[in-house]
Amino acid sequence: MKRCVNPACNAEMEDNETCCPECGTEQTPKQPKRHGCITAWLYFCLVVTVLLIGAFFRLNAFLGEENAMPISVIIVALAQSICCLIGYILLLRWRKIGFYLIAVSVVIGSVVSCVLLGEGMWTLFKDLISIPILYAVLQITTDGVPYWDSLK
Ligand SMILES: [Zn+2]
Repeated sequence: MKRCVNPACNAEMEDNETCCPECGTEQTPKQPKRHGCITAWLYFCLVVTVLLIGAFFRLNAFLGEENAMPISVIIVALAQSICCLIGYILLLRWRKIGFYLIAVSVVIGSVVSCVLLGEGMWTLFKDLISIPILYAVLQITTDGVPYWDSLK
């Protein structure tokens, strides 16, 4: 037995019934909720990523010819950012694959750009830290359920 989702009715009904026999309200399955902090964080990352993608296109104009980044590094950074952008959109749409897409693209992108630029481990670490932060944010619980567990 379950109860009608209409709080004003709340009549008892069979589990397989899709409409309430008392008030006729359609019994849609309860949507899992997402904590406001997670939504805010994902949108924040999304906006930052969009701004970054815009910035990469104008990076060399900004840096000037002497400090210009090799085009290969910019392409890697762009590819990484676009993958992250897709990842954040997938996470906002309750797809766990979005996290893996972000993690993989950040790892590959960071390692490749470190090699291309000949930079040290610190740069690599700084880039990779965003993955455990994102993972931690996704563990925030709503009604006792971590968001991570309600992702498909
Ligand atoms: Zn009802």
